[in-house]
Amino acid sequence: MGKVLIVAEHLDGKLNASTAKCVSAAQALKPDSIDIVVLAADPAGVAAEAAQIAGVANVLTVANAANANAIAQVLAPQVAALAKGYTHVFGPSTTFGKDLMPCVAALLGVAQVSDVMAVEGTHAFKRPIYAGNAIITVEAPADHAVVATVRTASWPEAARGGSAAVEAADVDAALPSHTRYIGLAAGKSDRPDLQSARRVVSGGRGVGSKENFEIIYKFADKLGAAVGASRAAVDAGYVPNELQVGQTGKIIAPELYIAVGISGAIQHLTGIKDAGTIVAINKDGDAPIFEIADVGLVGDLFQLLPELEQALS
Ligand code: FAD
Repeated sequence: MGKVLIVAEHLDGKLNASTAKCVSAAQALKPDSIDIVVLAADPAGVAAEAAQIAGVANVLTVANAANANAIAQVLAPQVAALAKGYTHVFGPSTTFGKDLMPCVAALLGVAQVSDVMAVEGTHAFKRPIYAGNAIITVEAPADHAVVATVRTASWPEAARGGSAAVEAADVDAALPSHTRYIGLAAGKSDRPDLQSARRVVSGGRGVGSKENFEIIYKFADKLGAAVGASRAAVDAGYVPNELQVGQTGKIIAPELYIAVGISGAIQHLTGIKDAGTIVAINKDGDAPIFEIADVGLVGDLFQLLPELEQALS
């Protein structure tokens, strides 16, 4: 049917789970082969991890000091050069992929297919629109390579246990000098990564203040969970922007999502549609969050959270 190339997402020498999710999406195409490309200064460790993903034929490595940081403008010409010979080029619909893949699509002269949540055919895909309130089927032209981002919340990680061949790829691409790495400013946290965590505890405006948010952090730590927040909590300055869950924040699919003092606005629910079990804690029994919650606790969060924490001890 065709060949799929997946661009590996990685950080600090570790492969991101989003790559194995892209492999699942690629498998749905029933292609002749699936390859992964790892672009890094030293890709060996990440490539070895990628080679273990079942269903992957080859892991291509592109070692270049310029690839030490994931700068879309630097990576894109290399991916575009490698794309020749592939029918599909997939990347995750994460910050990394949303930055990179449109550049790849532009270099290849095609329109990107965004947020693939289901594969309907080799060139037909389902994706959410209107903040996830409607699903549309889009068709990419059959005579061009398909460049797409994969909605990670919609796909499970492909199994491990594979043993793909790892080989260095020759890339003939001129790298731009107009975009250079200056530095990275990112919130440091020892907690699990919000986008890939299996458990997430989120706080909303109901938490009331930055200081009060300690109760959310404490409870999350008890569960080994990542911390998220509603936009209202972010806008009020309780937590930094990167914790926002929802339409304009992160789309997540943890096994357990606990929404604390969050009303359940549609823009927030968009971000947690694919969560396994949703628990809501809210003092207003009529809050819309209870319409989608699997477990609802009506009451004051400042009373319920310590009680829950105690019960977990
Ligand atoms: P509120 O709606 O104010 O709800 C607070 C809740 O806390 C209430 O239900 C209240 O009963 C409860 N509460 C208060 N005190 C307590 C207590 N002591 N104990 C228990 N419960 C208590 N929102 C997002 O979250 N993510 C997004 O990505 C996002 N994107 C948006 C994009 C657009 C274009 C727009 C227009 C809006 C977006 N929003 C987003 C905002 C969204 O519409 C809501 O305003 C926001 O989600 C509300 O946050 P909240 O539930 O924390 O606050």
